[in-house]
This record gives sequence, structure tokens and C-alpha cells, in this order.
Amino acid sequence: MSSKGSGPSKRGTFVVSLDTELGWGCFDTVGVDHYREAYENTRAVIDGLCDLFDAYRAPTTWAVVTHMLTDCGGRHDEPDPEFDWIDSWYGRAPCSAGVDRDLWYAPDVLERIRSADVDHELGVHGYSHMILGAPGCTRAAATAEIRRAMEVVEEFDLDVETFVFPRNRIGHLDVLEEFGVEYYRGLDARWYEASAPRPLRRVCRFGDEFTRRTPPTVTPRARAGMVELPGSQIFRPDDGYWRYTPPGTQVERAKKGLERAADRGEVFHLWFHPFNFGSDPEGHLDLFERVLSYAADLRRDDRLEILPIDEACRNVR
Ligand SMILES: [Zn+2]
Ligand SMILES: [Zn+2]
Repeated sequence: MSSKGSGPSKRGTFVVSLDTELGWGCFDTVGVDHYREAYENTRAVIDGLCDLFDAYRAPTTWAVVTHMLTDCGGRHDEPDPEFDWIDSWYGRAPCSAGVDRDLWYAPDVLERIRSADVDHELGVHGYSHMILGAPGCTRAAATAEIRRAMEVVEEFDLDVETFVFPRNRIGHLDVLEEFGVEYYRGLDARWYEASAPRPLRRVCRFGDEFTRRTPPTVTPRARAGMVELPGSQIFRPDDGYWRYTPPGTQVERAKKGLERAADRGEVFHLWFHPFNFGSDPEGHLDLFERVLSYAADLRRDDRLEILPIDEACRNVR
């Protein structure tokens, strides 16, 4: 059934990728306590997402911070990166800094994903969520980070091909390629994601939501010996500064993205962090279900497939 060497198939593709990280995501910036409630609810969110993905037969890419799967006992001898916003990366890591174990150690989450009926893809979102693309991330630190991530992957007998960059800061592509990574998520395909300073980027993202702008659709492309699949849209939560946007824009935009993907035979790549749903798991899961249901309708009409990153990219290699 493969269309070897041909262009995109006539149908569109819906890809969902999830940055799965619990307390690893922001320990170096706002700190774990800042999102404590959301982290405490994250297991319930993941459980609800797994149920939805099963109900709509939607295989998804779960990019996991692999330190969630191992308890190091707080011992680290890996080289620290030289970031200017944090004194000691491993010294401040939740495993060393006395954070409740449940907020950073979660092998049960992996079990939940693996016990799903649909065949999800497991990807990697770093070992300790190190910001590979930030200044100060030395080659030694990056290599240790990725080596350790891949060691955990092997310990758990996971077949990992896909990487999602922490904070979407892309760097050390050659190291990833050396360790056998085949696919990674690129930046959202908007000019400001690559070139605008952070405050302007925020304004632009806000503007896209406010005006219900149709998100871009993307195609996988060969890069640095791997295949990059850019993002289309973050499925933004209803809290934080997003509460100043009209309700439901993330659903409306995602539907437009799905239509565009189906029309053009391209990929609509939606992503978020499960903890983003943590302030109101039920409300956010309901919103997300509206997108999945819409995608399933397009699939029923033979206009769309729902695939994880590896399968969406495979034909490019
Ligand atoms: Zn540790
Ligand atoms: Zn992350």
C-alpha cells in the first residue's frame, strides 16, 4: 500500500504530539510549585486522553521526559550545561531538589500509554528536559543528556524514533542523529516562531487565537540526516493569559486546520502538554474531544488519516 517515492497522498493527515513531562517542564524557570495543581491533575488528564484516543482510534506521539521513568536517588555526575538562568541544572532538578516524588517520577504513565488499545508512538522529550537549543548547552552536556535518554529507552525496551525538543529550542541535531533519532518536531510553521523576539512571538500567537486564524498545514522534510515535521498549532488552554481570548478559538482553529489538511493532502500537526489541561481536566478534554470527533468524521469520508509522527514521516526517508 505504500506510495514509495510519490508526493503526498490525496488524503490529509492529522498528527497529535504531546510533550509529556510532569514537573520536569518548568523546574528551571517558574519552579514546580507554580503549576503544582496542574501537575497533580496530569495523571487524570493522561488517563482521559488515552480513553479519547481509544474511542476515536487515534494513535498519537507521546514524547516523554525519560527521567520520569527512573529514580536516580538524586545522584548525578553528568556535565552541567552553562545556562545563564540557572546555577546548577542537576542541582535544581526535581529529583535532587526535594520535590514530591509523584510530581516527577511516573513510570505508571508509561504503563497507561502502553496499555491503550491503539498503538501509540513513544518519543523522547529529553532525559532531564535540557534546553538543547539554548546558548550554554555545551556539546558535552547535550551528549550526556541524549545518551542517558536513550539508555532509559533501552532499559524499558521502547522503540523510539522521534524527538521533541524541550521548549521547542532546536539544537545539537548532529548528536541526535548519532544516537539514532529519525524524526523530530520542528517549530510551528509561522515566520515569528523562528525570528521574532519572545514578547512579539507572544503577541502574534495571541493574535492568531483572537482572529481565529487558520493554522498552517505542513509537510515532513529531510533535514540533518533526519526528517523534520513542523508544528501547526498549540492547543492552548483556557487559563493563564489565554483567558483573555474568546472561548473555543483553539477548537475552531483546529477544525480549520483539519479542513485545510484534508483539502491540500498535507499534515495538520497539533501539539500541547497534558499538564496544560490540568487546571480543568474535564473542560479541556471536552474541548479536545470536539477536535478528535471532527477529525474522525473527515476520516470516515476518506479525506483524512490520523497518524503519529513516525508514520506521517516514514515515506520521506
Ligand atoms: Zn535525577
Ligand atoms: Zn517540555
